[in-house]
Formats: sequence, structure tokens, C-alpha cells
Amino acid sequence: KKNHEHHPFLFVFQPTKKNAMNPEYSFFDAVCKSFDKAAQYTQFDQGILEQIKQCNSVLRMHFPVKIGDKVEVIKAYRVQHSHHKLPCKGGIRFSEMVNLDEVMALSALMTYKCAIVNVPFGGAKGGITIDPKKYSAYDLERITRRYTSELIKKRFIGPGEDVPAPDYGTGEREMSWILDTYMAMHPGEVEALGCVTGKPITQGGVRGRREATGLGVFFGIREVCNNAEVMAKRGLETGIAGKKIIVQGLGNVGYHSAKFFQEGGALVVGLAEYEGSIYNENGLDVEAVFQHRKKTGSILDFPGASNFSKNTDALEAPCDILIPAALENVINAENADRVQAKIIGEAANGPLTPEADEILVNKGTLVVPDIYLNAGGVTVSYFEWLKNLSHVSYGRLERRFMENQNANIVSQLEEMTGNKISDEQKKLIVHGPDEIDLVRSGLEDTMIKATKEILDCWKQNPTIIDMRTAAFVVAINKVGTSYLELGIFP
Ligand code: GLU
Repeated sequence: KKNHEHHPFLFVFQPTKKNAMNPEYSFFDAVCKSFDKAAQYTQFDQGILEQIKQCNSVLRMHFPVKIGDKVEVIKAYRVQHSHHKLPCKGGIRFSEMVNLDEVMALSALMTYKCAIVNVPFGGAKGGITIDPKKYSAYDLERITRRYTSELIKKRFIGPGEDVPAPDYGTGEREMSWILDTYMAMHPGEVEALGCVTGKPITQGGVRGRREATGLGVFFGIREVCNNAEVMAKRGLETGIAGKKIIVQGLGNVGYHSAKFFQEGGALVVGLAEYEGSIYNENGLDVEAVFQHRKKTGSILDFPGASNFSKNTDALEAPCDILIPAALENVINAENADRVQAKIIGEAANGPLTPEADEILVNKGTLVVPDIYLNAGGVTVSYFEWLKNLSHVSYGRLERRFMENQNANIVSQLEEMTGNKISDEQKKLIVHGPDEIDLVRSGLEDTMIKATKEILDCWKQNPTIIDMRTAAFVVAINKVGTSYLELGIFP
């Protein structure tokens, strides 16, 4: 399960007036609404804004796969939202709820996400409308390989064209199948490894990709919480230490976010899964809960914690920071009013409907938006792609050289001062960077810079009332400038 980018199970939510299964709710419209709100704060003319907003290329497929002794027609999509930079980039989702509107929305979010963290890609997203739990690994492999062949046929995959990655219901295993299918059809292509990211390390993956989204969520929230001005406006104290956190979803993103918050000194008081949620105001040990669930098959009845029957109850429990890390649309017009968190960190894509967003922002809740907060995944995907194109792992050339140099500096210092540096300190100072060190510091730097850009933009436009709009303004400005400089528009 840890292998999955988002939680592999579907959440069973209480029926609400509007939800992703309900055709009257359009996720893509919701993204466009956020876009329009922010567009007013930019200087681009209407045509450029319209071009940024629309999905550039949409591929909808139906293909047959033999499952057992029957032929099943599989429905799947790949949407490239923006070609202002190439390749396009974004995950592939396996879920029964996958539909065109959802994939379009998610591909648009990818464009804005990449722009915010300065990853030089256009946005894309793919999905197959299947419940992966209902298929054997053997069948899933054939479905994934067939889907990849369809993408190859239409040139919707390739290291310079469109590069998929894991998303809800997919992980390293699926990325390996995609890579292998692509390589088989592109023999000798030296850059083929860069056709997909989120691969296992042995297949050209990069260390640190698996936990990247969760770590990015932690860095993002930490940076926002360290901003005295933003915190003071909401009557909150700065810093992560001691803050009470609830995480919804223990998939790859939720599990790692929760662990990094705990390591960072926060109290993880609530955790939610599809079977229910648990709460302990004195804090839960995330790894112990994870192991308990592995053993018993359920998050419930964890020693010392109280149970909620529904996973959605945890969204309404008391806490400082709520991290929805599963699917879109979980906080909506129906339950937004009851959410008590002072900060919501959108680890999932689109967990708030526009109605919920408005209710919460008016209530003074700080909503830290998905297009910034969960960009750690694609940031490290970018590092993986660079590694694949350069055919060398990070740190390989300089690590030993730096260790030798640092060791020389340490011994010179000892000689000059006559003081001995402790072995422990020496180890810290001498240590040359491994791949994981470089990936994590690259991610941290990326999130710190992105936070600063968004908060600066917010400050410069005091009439903007929420962080999402500020983040969209930053994104639109970058994509719009890129379009202008491409010279498409006179
Ligand atoms: N699926 C992830 C997202 O929604 C990662 C995409 C990528 O790494 O390309 O951001």
C-alpha cells in the first residue's frame, strides 16, 4: 500500500448535494473558477487567459482487454492541459470514479503546480476508469501495458512530449510496466528512461521520490506557519511544534505527511481511513497506527484512541491543521461549516469545492492550496527526469571529492586552533552529499522559494483574500509570460 501515490481504496463518503459522482458538480469548472478569480489580478488580455485556461489536447480511449474468458472494454484518458513548456507532466490515476472532467481538472492543476515550483513542464494527467482492487496484478499489468501502447500510438508519452507519474491508485510497479512497454517500442532511444517518473530505484527512479509529496506538504506548511504576519492575522502562534494535526488518508501522501509532521514536533491527533477514523488529543504514533492497520486490517480500535465510525468525522474534529490527503471534493457546502481547523493544507488535489472554499475563507480559515502544497511530488519527478537524461545519479561525481576537501578543512582547523573536533561533529561536517541529501535539499529550497513568491504576491495585492488566489496569480503570470515570449500572440 505504501507503494501508492494516493490512497488505493475509494473513500465512501456520505452523499452530499454535490459530489464527484454527481454530474452537476464539475471539478474542471471549479478549477476555472479559481483561475478567473485570480485572472483579475493579472495584466494579460482575455485571449491569452482563455488559452491558458483550456485543455490543449484531450485523448479519450476505449480498448479491449481479455480478463479471464471475457473481453472487457476499458475506458481511459490522457489530457495535456498546456504545451507552453514541454514535456507535459502529470500522474496516472486508477479509480472507478475517473472521468474526463476529473482528468481535465487535474491536468490543469498540474500546469499551475509546475509553474509555481518552477518545474519547466506543461500540465497533464491520465486515468483509467477501473477499480484496481477488482483485478489481479497480472490483469493490471496487461491493462497498464495496453494503455501505454495507446499513448505511444498517439504520441501522448515520451521523454520530450509527455511524462506520466504515479497518482491515486498507482505506484512504482505501474511505472515500471509503463517504462518497459515504452522501451520495447523505442529500442535504442537513449533518453527512454525519462518517459515516466516515480519508477523503482533499480529502473531509473530517484531516491526520495516516494516520500516527496508528503515531505513537500510538511515543508510548505512549516514555511507558512513560520510566517509571523500570516499567523498573527489568524491569532495563531508561529511554528509547527505542538500544533494539533489531523490527516485524512494514510496512502503514500497522507502517511508520509503525517510522519514528517510528527518528526517535526507536531501532535498528530487524528487519522482517517475509509473504514473510519481515530482521535487522541495527546497525539498518535503514526507508524504504530500504520502497523496496527496492517495487522488488524483497520485503523479503528487503536490502543488509547477513540473511534469515529465515519472517516469524514475526523474532518470536523478539533485541531489546528487539517490535511486532506485523499481525493477531491471531501470538504463541500454540506460539511465546510463544521470544520474546526484553523489551517487546511490541501495535500490532495481539489479536496475543497469552491463553495467550501468560500465558507472557510470567510470564516477566517487559512486554506493552503493544492497547486502549491502538493507540488513536492512533481518537483522530485523533475529531479528524476533530469537524472534519467544525464544517466548519472546525484552526488556520484562530487561526493568523495567534497568529503576529502571537508576532511582537509577539519584537520587544518584542528591544527590551527589546537582544539579537537568531536568524532560526531566531524562526521557531520565531512559528509559529502548522497542522492537523497541533494533531492531533499532541492525540494526544501523549492518549497521555501515558492512560499515566498506566493506570500509576496499576496502582500502586494492586499485585496486578495485567500492564498489560493495568490498562488493562481503567481502561476498565471508565469504561464502567461511564457506564452507571450513564445511569440504566439502578436
Ligand atoms: N500525481 C502527482 C501530482 O498530482 C505527481 C505528478 C508527477 O510527478 O508528475 O502532482
